[in-house]
Amino acid sequence: MTNNIIDKTPLAYAYPLLIKNLLANSLRQFPDQDVVYGDFKRQTYREMGERIHRLASGLTGLGVKPGDTVAVMDWDSHRYLECFFAIPMMGAVLHTVNIRLSPEQILYTINHAEDDVILVNTEFLPILETIRDRIEPVKKFVLLNDADQPPETSLNIDIEYEALLAASDPRYLFPDFPEDTRATTFYTTGTTGLPKGVYFSHRQLVLHTFGVLAAVAGSGQGHISRDDVYLPITPMFHVHAWGIPYIATVMGLKQIYPGRYMPDHLLRLIQREKVTFSHCVPTILQMLLASPVVDEVDLSHWKVVIGGSALTQTLAQQARARGVDVFTAYGMSETCPILTLAQLKPHMLDWDEERQLDIRCKTGLPVPLVELRVVDEEMKDLPHDGKTPGEVVVRAPWLTQGYLKDPRNSEALWRGGYLHTGDIGVIDKEGYLKITDRLKDVIKTGGEWVSSLELENLILKHPAVEEAAVIGVPDPKWSERPLALVVLKARQEASEADIKTLLQDFAAKGIISKYGVPEHVIFVDVLPKTSIGKLDKKMMREQYTTG
Ligand code: AMP
Repeated sequence: MTNNIIDKTPLAYAYPLLIKNLLANSLRQFPDQDVVYGDFKRQTYREMGERIHRLASGLTGLGVKPGDTVAVMDWDSHRYLECFFAIPMMGAVLHTVNIRLSPEQILYTINHAEDDVILVNTEFLPILETIRDRIEPVKKFVLLNDADQPPETSLNIDIEYEALLAASDPRYLFPDFPEDTRATTFYTTGTTGLPKGVYFSHRQLVLHTFGVLAAVAGSGQGHISRDDVYLPITPMFHVHAWGIPYIATVMGLKQIYPGRYMPDHLLRLIQREKVTFSHCVPTILQMLLASPVVDEVDLSHWKVVIGGSALTQTLAQQARARGVDVFTAYGMSETCPILTLAQLKPHMLDWDEERQLDIRCKTGLPVPLVELRVVDEEMKDLPHDGKTPGEVVVRAPWLTQGYLKDPRNSEALWRGGYLHTGDIGVIDKEGYLKITDRLKDVIKTGGEWVSSLELENLILKHPAVEEAAVIGVPDPKWSERPLALVVLKARQEASEADIKTLLQDFAAKGIISKYGVPEHVIFVDVLPKTSIGKLDKKMMREQYTTG
């Protein structure tokens, strides 16, 4: 290898990729652009910039130093956005606490991340009150309060956020430091074991911002431009709201932070603020489309990226019927998160709606800088034929480099030098990935792999079905057989035979193999879900494996 490392004249500035560099130009170029917090607050980027400086000064006054960890427990708010910038820009680590975990799990994450200061919304005080005595070491608490009156609490609050900002210097000098400095931390919400901490550096968040930006910036299907109005509907505590607040800020978009997610409130915000761009999990989209308010709202200018779980054709169709530009993204907590986006290629824009729908529901094409492979157990690439499934492994500049303080799981995540997603997928001739299962949820029957996601998608085509989950249960002859769990829509009926006939018809057309048709369909009132609303198949297997 020739040594072509560039020379640097001593005065040359090396320019670390820091989060502060994402902000500076936006504040200069779009000072009058709005950031809105539900019904509570409307401020400009100029004010946001000043408040970011005040927050950093205020936190310094509370003793926060570079390398410390500052936790936030809040719904999506303008304050949370300020924390997304100020805390990492000081050289501290932002811990976005998953407030949907149990109090015991929250306690574990706070102690494991070694939080030094906790910013807490009034609504989550009761959680901290119950675990306060076991939080190590003694923390400082900053209150995030929207009410006029301070709340009653036994927690020792050091100061309220607005009071902290009002008393703090609006000129904080954000330092330079190495771009590999840790910026954020949060915990994955797997259904097994303790939560695992993932972490991202400044460099990683900057490159994620620009990698995804390169894929989405533009006009037409699946693209966003300067005129878009952004409303996140995946929580800021979950994988930085998919990193999109950083992208929205770089682009200078009007941003709407909705507080707690309530379907009617979200729809009214979409209407009032003329929102054109969001992202959410399928459950939220389903709730929005089922709300009575939806008929009062024009969704025909709304682009919405769906991720976190598979987008079913039924749901995509419902959204398309209202003119929504709906398409899928794929990623995970470990991957910052975005790996792929299911935008249509230009030649697909002439396709009929049904073929387009198929693409929108795939998991997408890798965004720039993502190397994504589907491999067998020996890490050999599988053919891109749209039907040979294997594990999805990835490389990208923004993948967690390990699990926090957990070398054993870190090495397992990165075995062979690729991050193992634990997802099973296929890649088609056009290069689109489709996730067909989680590795641990995959059903193997008589040596054949059956995709639980595909079966669920097909069961949902029955007009009476509200939700469906398919799990593998042990079988003496076939080793495993699929079992379908179905929730019916209110006041609608369907029998086990109806569901089986539907699937047998798909098997007869060759859409699924005949081994895929379950012998049993169980009707249930609710399906167990994880803290972030995903189907909890581990729990289902435990419940339905016996008998
Ligand atoms: P989390 O780390 O909680 O964000 O969960 C990540 C997991 O969600 C992935 O490993 C996938 O199993 C699943 N997932 C995310 N996006 C999709 C998608 N578009 N389709 C199917 N599964 C998805």
